[in-house]
Amino acid sequence: MSRTVYVNGNYVPEEDAKVSVFDRGFLFADGVYEVTSVLQGKLIDFDGHAVRLQRSLSELDMKNPVTKDELLEIHRELVRANDIDEGLVYLQITRGAADRDFAFPEDAEPTIVLFTQAKPGLADSPKAKQGMKVISIEDQRWGRRDIKTVQLLYPSMGKMMAKAAGADDAWMVEDGFVTEGTSNNAYIVKGNTIITRHLGNEILHGITRAAVLKFAREAQMKVEERAFTMEEALQADEAFVTSASAFVMPVVEIDGNPIGKGAPGSVAYRLREIYLDESLKKAV
Ligand code: PMP
Repeated sequence: MSRTVYVNGNYVPEEDAKVSVFDRGFLFADGVYEVTSVLQGKLIDFDGHAVRLQRSLSELDMKNPVTKDELLEIHRELVRANDIDEGLVYLQITRGAADRDFAFPEDAEPTIVLFTQAKPGLADSPKAKQGMKVISIEDQRWGRRDIKTVQLLYPSMGKMMAKAAGADDAWMVEDGFVTEGTSNNAYIVKGNTIITRHLGNEILHGITRAAVLKFAREAQMKVEERAFTMEEALQADEAFVTSASAFVMPVVEIDGNPIGKGAPGSVAYRLREIYLDESLKKAV
């Protein structure tokens, strides 16, 4: 059965879901996106994603074609129509179709597309028990990584470099400090302290990051939001990443070196449990 996809106000079968070749998302990567996870048929951290979407649009002076309530309704309708129990809802808004010109068009109507991806076993993931292997690569992305744009070519290349090296993902390094993973925020644990890069233009302000740090502080864990080097990461007791699709995912190897005991650590394990429990309670 084909998926039902949302395109500019209509729910259509995926074969009929089409946008213009002049769409600036296609020609200039002039668009932003969000990914919201679904557990037990409910949306996780929806509010956070809606707020960040608005921020991304505002930073790019782009119109939002929907209200927050409409956005929630579209998400829910797609989850219902596609019978998603565990999975993701992908949302993209672009500046719309206009004759090709570097200057932003004045009168283009934004394009909005949403689709679902079923991911059975998202919460009870075998990778969470096994842990991920990462490699380090140079961060060659643009300077406004706080805006969640669809220009994901370098992260995509990073993922391929990781695959070629027999790893799961890459951590990006800039001026000697780790920025983040290709599609997740990066953390190390030393003793009782969780260390993750401070917010700024250099990283995406992860919605899962915000929630996990809040839960960590509430559980009396020490949190330091500061840049860390790869050398520090290699000496860490634990490492992990967070994202809407991976939740809290342990990292057990960096550039071929085991982190801590080379197995998922207790802090990552506990934070994953707390995150899943607490965010399910607030799921909508
Ligand atoms: N950093 C980058 C570069 C990402 O692509 C993502 C996932 N979209 C994240 C961090 C994690 O953000 P979130 O927790 O909001 O999914």
